Amino acid sequence: MLQLSMPLHFLGFVYREIKHSLADMEKMFNLLAESEEIKDKPGATSLIPGDAAVRFEGVDFSYESNRQILFDVSFDIPAGRNIAVVGHSGSGKSTLARLLFRFYDVTSGRILISGQNISHVTQQSLRKAVGIVPQDTVLFNDSIYYNIAYGRPDASREEVLEAARSAHIHDFIESLPDKYETMVGERGLKLSGGEKQRVAIARAILKEPEILIFDEATSALDSNSEKAIQAELKRVAINRTTLTIAHRLSTIADADQILVMSKGSIIERGTHRELLAASGAYAQMWELQQQEEQTRLQGINDITQK
Ligand code: ATP
Repeated sequence: MLQLSMPLHFLGFVYREIKHSLADMEKMFNLLAESEEIKDKPGATSLIPGDAAVRFEGVDFSYESNRQILFDVSFDIPAGRNIAVVGHSGSGKSTLARLLFRFYDVTSGRILISGQNISHVTQQSLRKAVGIVPQDTVLFNDSIYYNIAYGRPDASREEVLEAARSAHIHDFIESLPDKYETMVGERGLKLSGGEKQRVAIARAILKEPEILIFDEATSALDSNSEKAIQAELKRVAINRTTLTIAHRLSTIADADQILVMSKGSIIERGTHRELLAASGAYAQMWELQQQEEQTRLQGINDITQK
């Protein structure tokens, strides 16, 4: 019986491994498929590094031909400035980020970086100039070192460790039994939402892109982690052209300009003070979020006093 069960155990093991590998492959193909939708145009040239100013000019966009998502979106991010985008769920905020990274081409209008239409430059040169810290970072089934170094594979070990220190994740990694060689991802150590975002920030620090896109996580991190992550991001964003997609208005009140999106259009724009003074949609959202925060804090007080 034992003789029979051993090979069966072994077969079970092989089956599980193949299943995992297929799942990994599937994910990889999905990732490739996402960026493969867009091909370099014949004769595409490299993006020439410039001041890294970003311009959206009359951008319309549809994922599917029967449903338009963005309507005539125009805005400028002057070189080195930070623009934040806010608006209700589904209003098209993350779509702006995806278009700037050129996961898709605009339906009409154009997006310029340093005066160059991003549809006419090579994907490789564009992806080198633009770094993205997404809502939910995909971790590869590999070491945490590999996952950070992925930001710039030719970086030295010291540079990788320095990026991890700046993203405030070095001490955490050092506390793990296998330190930087700890396997993470679906088959390894599961990281929390905040830890994953720090890995993404470390990647971005290592990459040193001229333009940074930060898509704030929808699920609220605890407020200490959130504050720490915001502080780290602010440091990375200094002197970089930055597009921040925000869900919590408190995190972007000091942006150079805030765009308010509704149903695929920009309905208001200005600084936090200007938008509050205008008493429009932004002022309403702000009021609502302040009330929610009060209720949340009251709830915490009630629990701790029990
Ligand atoms: P949230 O705050 O919830 O992240 P958002 O403002 O970032 O929302 P988007 O993710 O930009 O919104 O989505 C805008 C609209 O586009 C939504 O109605 C969504 O259903 C649609 N959409 C998003 N991705 C796709 C896709 N790959 N294919 C088709 N429609 C999509």
